[in-house]
Amino acid sequence: MLSTLFSSAARGVAKRTGAAAKPALFSTASIDPSKLDITKAQTRKLFPPKEELQFGQLFTDHMLEIDWTSDHGWHAPVIRPYGPFQMDPAASVLHYGLECFEGMKGYLDSEGRTRLFRPDMNMARMKVSCERMNLPDFDGDAFLECIKELVRLDKGCIPEGDGFSLYLRPTAISTHPYLGVTGAQSSKLYCILSPVGPYYPEGFKPVTLYADNQNRRAWPGGVGFTKCGGNYAPTIKVQMDAAKKGYSQVLWLFGDDDQLTEVGTMNMFTFWVNEDGDKELVTAPLDGTILPGVTRDTILNLARGWGEFKVTERSYTMAEMTKAIEEKRLIECFGAGTAAVVSPIRLISYHGTEYEVPLDPKNPDAVAGPLTQRVWDTIVGIQYGRDEHEWSVVID
Ligand SMILES: *Cc1c(COP(=O)(O)O)cnc(C)c1O
Repeated sequence: MLSTLFSSAARGVAKRTGAAAKPALFSTASIDPSKLDITKAQTRKLFPPKEELQFGQLFTDHMLEIDWTSDHGWHAPVIRPYGPFQMDPAASVLHYGLECFEGMKGYLDSEGRTRLFRPDMNMARMKVSCERMNLPDFDGDAFLECIKELVRLDKGCIPEGDGFSLYLRPTAISTHPYLGVTGAQSSKLYCILSPVGPYYPEGFKPVTLYADNQNRRAWPGGVGFTKCGGNYAPTIKVQMDAAKKGYSQVLWLFGDDDQLTEVGTMNMFTFWVNEDGDKELVTAPLDGTILPGVTRDTILNLARGWGEFKVTERSYTMAEMTKAIEEKRLIECFGAGTAAVVSPIRLISYHGTEYEVPLDPKNPDAVAGPLTQRVWDTIVGIQYGRDEHEWSVVID
């Protein structure tokens, strides 16, 4: 009955848009940065002193929008003053969460140049997320060109100084006004920018984790590898409950053997002496349940380049973790993601027991272990252009 209802409605939509009626004319215009249509804001926003910036609360003067329709493909990109857009209340993003997003940053270096960090990785990942959400594919370089133009235009909103940056939020949504659970016939790519301060204004503040073996973030055959909104809504209550218990983040476990997967919205790294007696940096493998973090990839690359210890992508369990803690083989643990770069972990609550995670076995006052600190220093040095690296892309 339902399926009949949906398919007749689907025919109605196809007739209205004419897309299905004229498949031969189906066109797939690609994103064309040379067609960028820019309308500048009349007034410039005033921002509070940079020390008072809260993550993701204030946005710059302009935004980028690129519409797509199935009959035309990508329309001309538009940069216009930041503000709401109109959307039909039936748009399937509002009903079925047909959307995905990215998180990346722009930095001002000491010479006043604007830099992005590995933006090609964000574009590649967004294409994967879109593909999985059945949202239209796009030319990642072309979208990135438009984003760069937006960032150049709002360069004056990037706060200066170490730890300060511009958070970029590219987003893809279905604007298709149709309640059938089906592929979008219209959608929008857009990007907004938010000036942000350091994640740790007073230096590292090690986090405590609640290892949750009741709720799952992702599962085999699911979409844990995409940055789609549907992966985050169900985690919020779990995070709030962990916070009520006094823990800063959820440690997401998976499987009957409680494998460690991710920490909140960060990838997790564990540095220990493994059961064979080797020093090893381990993180969960990209098996489809793990978000392929740019920071994760960066850390794996750096650590393999250092060549000082084993670097392994494999599943590992809470049983291995608690055993390592009891045998004093655990060296340090940290979360990794664009927002914080790295986040030292000092405690894991699991099955009612609080396990202390060492920060620095040699220094009781440390707020981060030596490896966590080194990863931070290295990545931040590249992001702010102090250490020249191909990962840091000068755009202005
Ligand atoms: C965004 C995100 C990360 C970190 O990815 P980065 O590209 O390093 O910022 C890790 N895990 C989840 C679940 C995420 O959403």
